[in-house]
Amino acid sequence: MSRIDELRELLHRANRAYYVDAAPFMSDAEFDRLLAELAALEAAHPERFDPNSPTQRVGGEPSTGFVQVTHRVPMMSVDNTYSTDDLRAWWDRCEKALGHSFAAVADPKVDGVAISIRYEHGRLVQAATRGDGTTGDDVTRNIRAIDAVPLVLAAPEGAALPPVLEVRGEIFMPNASFERINDERRRAGEPEFMNARNSTAGTLKSLDPAVVRSRGLSFVAHGVGHVEDVTLDGRPVATYLDFLRALRTLGIPVPGTEVRCTSADECVAAIERFGAARADLAYAVDGMVVKVDAFADRAALGVTAKSPRWAVAFKYPAERKPTVLRSIAWQVGKGGTLTPRATMDPVVIAGTKVQHATLHNIDEIHRKDLRIGDTVVVEKAGEIIPQVVEVDRAKRLADALPVEPPAACPSCGEPVTKEGPKLFCTNAACPEQFRERLKWFVGRNQMDIDGLGEKIVDQLLDAGLVRGFADVFRLDPARVAELTSESVTKSGKRVVRKIGGKTAESIVAGAEQAKGRGMARLLESLGIRHMGTASAKAFARAYPDIDALRTASPEDLMQIHDIGEVTAPSIHADLHSPAMDRTLRELRDTGVSMASTSFQARVASAPDTPSDAFFAGKTVVLTGELESLDRRTATERLEALGAKVTGSVSKNTHLVIAGPGAGSKLAKATELGIEVWDEARLLRALAEG
Ligand SMILES: [Zn+2]
Repeated sequence: MSRIDELRELLHRANRAYYVDAAPFMSDAEFDRLLAELAALEAAHPERFDPNSPTQRVGGEPSTGFVQVTHRVPMMSVDNTYSTDDLRAWWDRCEKALGHSFAAVADPKVDGVAISIRYEHGRLVQAATRGDGTTGDDVTRNIRAIDAVPLVLAAPEGAALPPVLEVRGEIFMPNASFERINDERRRAGEPEFMNARNSTAGTLKSLDPAVVRSRGLSFVAHGVGHVEDVTLDGRPVATYLDFLRALRTLGIPVPGTEVRCTSADECVAAIERFGAARADLAYAVDGMVVKVDAFADRAALGVTAKSPRWAVAFKYPAERKPTVLRSIAWQVGKGGTLTPRATMDPVVIAGTKVQHATLHNIDEIHRKDLRIGDTVVVEKAGEIIPQVVEVDRAKRLADALPVEPPAACPSCGEPVTKEGPKLFCTNAACPEQFRERLKWFVGRNQMDIDGLGEKIVDQLLDAGLVRGFADVFRLDPARVAELTSESVTKSGKRVVRKIGGKTAESIVAGAEQAKGRGMARLLESLGIRHMGTASAKAFARAYPDIDALRTASPEDLMQIHDIGEVTAPSIHADLHSPAMDRTLRELRDTGVSMASTSFQARVASAPDTPSDAFFAGKTVVLTGELESLDRRTATERLEALGAKVTGSVSKNTHLVIAGPGAGSKLAKATELGIEVWDEARLLRALAEG
């Protein structure tokens, strides 16, 4: 055996000992030293390249997109249940359908992202996400970057490796990784991740395996995909439990906490036992999956259109934990609403670090009798934002402080008004309101000023460089470049960082570009009450510019679809307020366009040549990444030309615009024989109108 082979084998084995057997025999330093030796040898012998070498966990350049993979065995999702009664009913159904008693295996439902990993003759060849169950993204390069995923399998003693082994499982972010990453992000002044599963999904979509590697993801197998000749102790594998044992022998991590049950009672007992223990696991588990053990029984039970009949997922109720309420801050929203936000001692609940929760309003605080210093119970279930459920009265200390509504706005000091349970600051010049309104104004779905994130908005306001919306369009790049922010490094050192010339220039360029967004986007950005996307678009179709809109009476405005007798006078009043007068004048002076592009397009194509326009009346679907147009702009321009842009492909679709990464929609379009364009073709057509 050559030294290269020897090192590869040794390093794979060390990895397996660590991730599968939990019995490491090599220190990290030793591992790194041998890995460096292998890398040097491989560099000297390029003919020995192997994508499954331990050195290739992060190989090559970032990719530009994902290719679609069709699953040979569909990746189905399992039906959820929340009650043990439902679980018992499932058990009875299976027993009845089978006509005999059966065994099932309960294993933890790890809260991660489903993956299918394919090995051929023991070598990892492909990994794909679930996608729509039929086709998913090829994420092989990213999956290789995860240490817990074996690149080559260990042959069982005296037996051959299975020719094809597709394992299904879960990629997840262990609690320790989640906390470490958030620590790093906090120190770097970046927003923290809210949820480990969402971070995992986002990480797998990264085009750079080095990013995946840095996130410390892990893997556990729990399902069978397309397999050929998987054996255990020389016999073909016929049950799930044996399949898990076979995986372990091959060096693939499995939960190790699976329980075999032969009755519904045993199953419920296992779920209850595990429910108590799961909080201590190193990763988030939101339930248990119960699966029929024998593959023959599974085949007899079959599948529905969506899910297998032989499996059911029991989900635990929302996780609750006690913590201490430390303070309540009143946050001023862009409409002047004052919302109470609790700060608590941090706790990890359902895989998420929770430190803050909204308390909704003052009446809610009094109803729950929350006091500063109280021990409170916080609940969080998966996607749901954390809630303070109740106070633990038994733990109330004598000095717990009742919460009073603020008499004055914490931002401007003006008196607060109360409407029902809600508190408002009605001062139009309130700095905090303006901060929120400005963040909205420059935001991605409004004026969309490139490079102007929330943090930089804060810096601009704090430095006094922006006092009104128009100031965004007359920033002096030299002054922006000098703005500083402070952050703390890993070693606890304070660093003051300048925005710098490059970023400053790009913000100014972004603002310059945003001047031409047009009437609809501008109307929506200004923070006018009742002015949503649909109404802003409707106004821009009906009026050539904002000046013309301002000559309209409330009755005129009511002629527009969906503008009623409450909203019309309100919008009319907002459009004519002295503050709006000044804002619009200043915006116009800085060169921001008040004109409607959709009105022009409508006039240009109507009334005598409506059918000449290519897009008029066509139903168009956008899918995949667009490079030079963002999706919203593309939609607007298509709509301005009379197209209807929808989200799903059907036989009524006329045209699909597909960018890189286009998936099931593109496949469906091809299947239905619908015309497909790339972005370049779209741009040419848009230019021609
Ligand atoms: Zn205020």
